[in-house]
Amino acid sequence: MTTTAVRPTTEPTAPEFSTVFGRELVSELSNFVHRPYVVVTMEDLWPRFEQHFDEHLAKVHFVTTLDAAEVEAQAEALPEFGSIVGLGGGQAIDVAKYFAWRRGRPIFQVPTAMTTNAPFGYRSVLRDEGKAVVVGWAVPEAVYIDYDVIRSAPPHLNRSGIGDVLCHHTAAFDWKLAHDTGHEEPRWPYDQRLVDEAQARLDAVIADLDEIRAVTDRGIRTLIRAHRWAGASFHNAGWNTRHLDGVDHCYLYALEAVTGHHFLHGQAVGLGTYFGALLQDNEPQMILSALERVGVDIRPEAMGITWEDAATAMRGLSRYVREADLEYTIADARPVTEEVIEEVRDRVYATFGAWQS
Ligand SMILES: [Zn+2]
Repeated sequence: MTTTAVRPTTEPTAPEFSTVFGRELVSELSNFVHRPYVVVTMEDLWPRFEQHFDEHLAKVHFVTTLDAAEVEAQAEALPEFGSIVGLGGGQAIDVAKYFAWRRGRPIFQVPTAMTTNAPFGYRSVLRDEGKAVVVGWAVPEAVYIDYDVIRSAPPHLNRSGIGDVLCHHTAAFDWKLAHDTGHEEPRWPYDQRLVDEAQARLDAVIADLDEIRAVTDRGIRTLIRAHRWAGASFHNAGWNTRHLDGVDHCYLYALEAVTGHHFLHGQAVGLGTYFGALLQDNEPQMILSALERVGVDIRPEAMGITWEDAATAMRGLSRYVREADLEYTIADARPVTEEVIEEVRDRVYATFGAWQS
């Protein structure tokens, strides 16, 4: 006789955002988006795309700020419109979501690079006095991934998009550690199924690093699908990030606090993931090799800061995560010794070379 234990599971993964891969997708938009439409983009991108829009363009909005109060005022001031088109990197995508949410209009998203998974998240990430504000709800009618548009972005922007996938590796360790030591959040009990889903996306990206580096059609599909899954999974798992990121992002926030610098997201997260994996004693070399192979340089100087800045954030990480009340990770469990910091430094410069200013 056995008793039947019903293992708590999350519901099967809910639908991911409708995503279209193709070519010459921008020139089609004016034929089907609800009129009149507002295009949210960056001023430097507009000359390249302006000719694809017509007399039904109600307004083009150039993103100049992510300040929550300012973006709210901008949303209020928009003219009447039928839909929003988000066209650009993370900032245009986030402001477009906010406008669509505040004004209750459909949205079409056209990311121009693979920098982060922002196009596949429901909420906007804005700023309020330096702190992230994550608000809103916008489900795009579709996300359009134009191979040629993506490929024309600076290569390092596209390649750095692996940062938000590599960190699933350190996230899984941190979540299990929190579970095993009694530190997991009651609302997010450890769930192997979610960890396995994340691992499958990570494996797919690791298998296609050369394609992603070269930004081939296949590389674009692999990385975008991983981002699409993560954006949906955050919501589908109950606004849970435990299987998605951990010490890797804690390090990014600590580095921002130390330097006041705004980083290319995946590059700083890449350094955080390598440092975190080393602290976890969890295949750090696999992470470093992946970053090297895909072409994401994680030397601090390549991010516009010094090695000493990076080391200061490592030394202060355990204190920072408690002050900021972040989730329990290896940063709470294992002290960051000078030996660990030296090992990160030695391995990073041995891999990418000494910095030549
Ligand atoms: Zn991230």
